[in-house]
Amino acid sequence: MVALAELDWITYQQAVSAEDAIIFLPIGALEQHGPHMSMNPDVLIPQAIAEGASELLKNAMVAPPIAYGYKSQQQSGGGNHLPGTTSLDGITLTQTVRDIIKEFARHGARKIVMMNGHFENSMFLVEGIDLAIRELGWAGIDDINVMILSYWDFVDDKTIERLYPDGFTGWAIEHGGVLETSLMLYLYPHLVDMDKVVDHPPAKFPPYDMFPVDPELTPASGTLSSAKNASREKGEILMSVCVDGIARSVSEKFQSNLPASAPSIGAA
Ligand SMILES: [Zn+2]
Repeated sequence: MVALAELDWITYQQAVSAEDAIIFLPIGALEQHGPHMSMNPDVLIPQAIAEGASELLKNAMVAPPIAYGYKSQQQSGGGNHLPGTTSLDGITLTQTVRDIIKEFARHGARKIVMMNGHFENSMFLVEGIDLAIRELGWAGIDDINVMILSYWDFVDDKTIERLYPDGFTGWAIEHGGVLETSLMLYLYPHLVDMDKVVDHPPAKFPPYDMFPVDPELTPASGTLSSAKNASREKGEILMSVCVDGIARSVSEKFQSNLPASAPSIGAA
């Protein structure tokens, strides 16, 4: 795995000009994830997955993540009113993404993979990509390609059935639940304390949002579903499904060298 920031600039310049060079850019958030977990899983998980996927590709580098994200929404992150959750305005995130893509393009990068770890970021990332591509076009650079993905979209139905034998309530309600807690148990066990998990039924919301939010609608723990059934083993399965699926998609779009059967991935 090549950490972009750890290269000297001459080596970086060579790497970024190599044929089929790919830059992964993880984007997360600083957001509460319940009493049992640190506030940075949305950063650490996509970064680890980007590192794992880059191992399976040639000429792939992982850029330092954007560690702050768009405002936590009540139905997907508990809400932006909770302490610890530290968010950017949409325009700030959009322009940060636009600026970073334009800088990588200036260095010669033409293939960028944005790895999202925080649901609320999605459309602001799309807007940043769109503005960057538009402005690069004005500057005569019209051969840049950006892939954007959220890692949980690579968890297939079969894996969901296996990991959620009692039924799956959807990714939004997973905030601080089995998905993120299992991945953190696998990748960074010292940042999780399973003794502090609050076991509560999945949060229930009306089919609309109100602003300001009614804090009563968010479970007191800040999680939207229980992490009680999280485990390191589930985290390992999730990690390998995401890393393999993402490496395969990136390879299909940007390269064509992925081995038929990708080796399984160790902990970051
Ligand atoms: Zn999260």
